Amino acid sequence: MKEVVLVKLGEIALKGLNRRTFEDVLKKNIKKALYGLGWFKLSIAQSTITVTPESKDVDMDKVEDAISRVFGIVSYCRACVCEKDMEDIYAKAPRYLEDVLMEAKTFKVEAKRSDKKFPLKSPEICMELGGLLLEKFPHLTVDVHNPDVKVTVEVRDFAAYVHADSKKGAGGIPVGTGGQGCILISGGIDSPVAAYMMAKRGIKLTAVHFQSPPYTSERALEKVKKLLKLVSRYSGSITMITVPFTKLQEKIRDDCPEELFTIIMRRLMMQISERIAKDYDCTALITGESLGQVASQTIHAIACTDEAATMPVFRPLIGMDKEEIITISRKIDTFETSIEPFEDCCTIFTPKHPRTRPVLKFVKFAEEEANFAELIEEAIKNVEITEI
Ligand code: ATP
Ligand code: MG
Repeated sequence: MKEVVLVKLGEIALKGLNRRTFEDVLKKNIKKALYGLGWFKLSIAQSTITVTPESKDVDMDKVEDAISRVFGIVSYCRACVCEKDMEDIYAKAPRYLEDVLMEAKTFKVEAKRSDKKFPLKSPEICMELGGLLLEKFPHLTVDVHNPDVKVTVEVRDFAAYVHADSKKGAGGIPVGTGGQGCILISGGIDSPVAAYMMAKRGIKLTAVHFQSPPYTSERALEKVKKLLKLVSRYSGSITMITVPFTKLQEKIRDDCPEELFTIIMRRLMMQISERIAKDYDCTALITGESLGQVASQTIHAIACTDEAATMPVFRPLIGMDKEEIITISRKIDTFETSIEPFEDCCTIFTPKHPRTRPVLKFVKFAEEEANFAELIEEAIKNVEITEI
C-alpha cells in the first residue's frame, strides 16, 4: 500500500499575500529535513502539503520523525493512498488501519471532501466506511464524541487518503521567513532553548560562541557544537562563529574593578556579537537570559548589558522559570548535553561580589580606562567559522 505524509500548515495559512512565500520556504525546509532519507515529491493544496516518497524502501518512521521537527506545521499524519472510489477505500482502509484499530475500543469516521464531484457526500462516506469497519473489527463500537481512534477519509484532487489520528506538529512559522538572528550560545541550559524558540518564530540562526582557552577546554567547545547540532534539527543549518576571548577576559581581570568583571564581560560579548551579526546579515541578537536568574541578569544589569549593542536583543526566556526552561530543553533533547560539566568562559574570573545594580556611567568609565579597542579587533579577526 502506498503511504504518504499529509502535513497541515499552521499560522502560515493566515498570512495573506505572503502565503506563497511562506509555503515555498516550508516546502524547502521539509525537503532539507528529509535529506538522506530518499526522494520525495511535495505538492501543496488546501493548506496541506502531501509528501510522497518516490524512492523504494523509504523508512517512514524516520520521515515522520524528521517532519515532526519542522516549524510551520500544525499537525501531520501518515496516510494510505487510495483511488477515488469507495471500492478501493473499502479494500485498503481495514488493512491499513488494522494495527491501530485492534488496539482501540471505540472509533469514529470523519470525511473531508474537497473534491465536490465525488459521488458520496461526507456523511455517506462516514456511514459506509464506519459500517464496514464495524463488520471487520467486531470488538469496536462507535463513539462520536470521544473516540480512541478517529479515522479520517480525505477526498482530494488526485486521490483519496485514509488515516488515523494526526500528530501535533512543531508549530511556529517556517525558519527563514522571519529574517536572521544571531544567538549568543554558551554550553548552558538556557541559550540552546532560546535558539530553538526564536527559530520557531521563523528566524534563521547564526551562532556566536566565546571561548577562553586554556581556561576553557576543547571539550567545552565540542559540547557547544553538539548543542548546536541538536538545535539544528529544528532550525536547519547554523553557521557558528567562535571568538577567542582569553586576552579580553585577562584584560578585564587585570584592568577593571572586580565587582564589574561580569557586566563588562557581558557588554564586550554584546559588542563583538553585534559586529559579527552585521557581517552575517543578522538584524537581532538572541540570548538565553532570564530575569533575576543570576547577578548579571537583574533588571539593572540587563539594562546595562543592553546598552552595549544597538541591535534589538531578543531574550525569549526573560519571563520563564528555570523549571520551564528545563522542560523545553528536555523536549528538544539538549538537557543531557547542557549539564555535562565543562567550564564556560562566563564562569572563570567570577567576582565574589558582582554588582547587581551596576551604574552605566561607572561601567563605561572602567571600560574607557581599560581600552579594549585593539583586543576587540584582534578577536574579531581571529574568529573560527564552523558550519553546523
Ligand atoms: P546559559 O544556560 O545559556 O549558559 P546562563 O543562565 O548560564 O545561560 P549566563 O552564563 O549569565 O547565563 O549567560 C547569559 C547568556 O549569555 C547566555 O544565555 C548566552 O546567551 C550568553 N553567553 C554566555 N556565555 C556565553 C559564551 N561563552 N559565548 C556566547 N554567549 C554566551
Ligand atoms: Mg552559562
